[in-house]
Amino acid sequence: KMNTDLGQHILKNPGVADAIVAKADLKQSDIVLEVGPGTGNLTMRILAKARKCIAVEMDPRMAAEVTKRVQGTPMQKRLDVMLGDVIKTDLPYFDVCISNTPYQISSPLVFKLLATSPAPRVCILMFQREFAMRLFARPGDKLYSRLSVNAQMWAKVDHIMKVGRNNFNPPPQVESSVVRITPKNPRPQISFDEWDGLLRICFVRKNKTLRASFFGTTSVMDLLESNYRTWCAQNDVILDDGPLEEGVADEMEVEEDEEWDGIMDVDEDEDELPEFFKAERARRAEIKKNGPGKRKRKGKVAELVREKVRRILEDETELADRRARMCDEGDFLKLLYAFNKEGIHFC
Ligand code: SAM
Repeated sequence: KMNTDLGQHILKNPGVADAIVAKADLKQSDIVLEVGPGTGNLTMRILAKARKCIAVEMDPRMAAEVTKRVQGTPMQKRLDVMLGDVIKTDLPYFDVCISNTPYQISSPLVFKLLATSPAPRVCILMFQREFAMRLFARPGDKLYSRLSVNAQMWAKVDHIMKVGRNNFNPPPQVESSVVRITPKNPRPQISFDEWDGLLRICFVRKNKTLRASFFGTTSVMDLLESNYRTWCAQNDVILDDGPLEEGVADEMEVEEDEEWDGIMDVDEDEDELPEFFKAERARRAEIKKNGPGKRKRKGKVAELVREKVRRILEDETELADRRARMCDEGDFLKLLYAFNKEGIHFC
């Protein structure tokens, strides 16, 4: 009995299983990571071509099944079954990843693979069709998201083949696609967490201008100020942390971006929302209850950070009026360099 909560859809078409493993172009010396071996349809084919297979499986019954399948054969020594959630597991080194991916973990798995260093040579992954299309989406496409920018920043992505629902047991609701992700080699020389931290701010509401994404959100400014203080401390930069100059009002009018009324309409998966955004929601709920009023100015450092961000968005990159959904990797790189040069960091 399959557990569909775990995305258990066993591939029953041997031709498709052969094609997936063939596309990985395995070498006899390869260590392969397989995510969710299930009953072992792909695992057996991997073991026939590679030196070793590390199979991470969450369901103990499945882990037992695939273990039994190699027992007493010469393959037994070359299969390493790790019981657990692949997202929470510290993975050992591997050359190639192959997965008929349980659909619930598609997004975190791709992020995990893209962040892996050293990067695997290639990943051959089966996804639901719409998820696969998100990996390829370009600026302006409806499906363009933080996932698209990351995938295309760190890797080359190709569509390998469409796989119909009836190739699985039980058949899933939707069609699937096999995708090849080839991480760029050499890896772009930027920090994954910095890059993704910037994208998180820009893509929580990808249809808003970058100006609104940064300034419409007090909690983003709080985050950037806090990161800036850390950076200054680490780089022996002395901050003038005094009160505001005479004559500067200590309260400021803040236009609350009305469109924030749609605060529940976000473009990210709910469980991937960043902390600053959850804080912003709480703050907005407060305003709704007590009225907007004026906002206290926070001090010189906050003002300094605001001014840096304004200058970078408006003058230096001229991206203030652009929307994240229309920006490509080059635009985000330009932004990241400009911010980092000014000591503004995203993680
Ligand atoms: N590889 C097999 C095949 O192609 O026939 C089974 C694929 S089935 C779509 C997904 C498998 O991943 C299931 O065996 C399921 O138990 C396992 N799984 C689900 N969530 C997982 C997780 N977080 N970490 C590791 N394995 C997981």
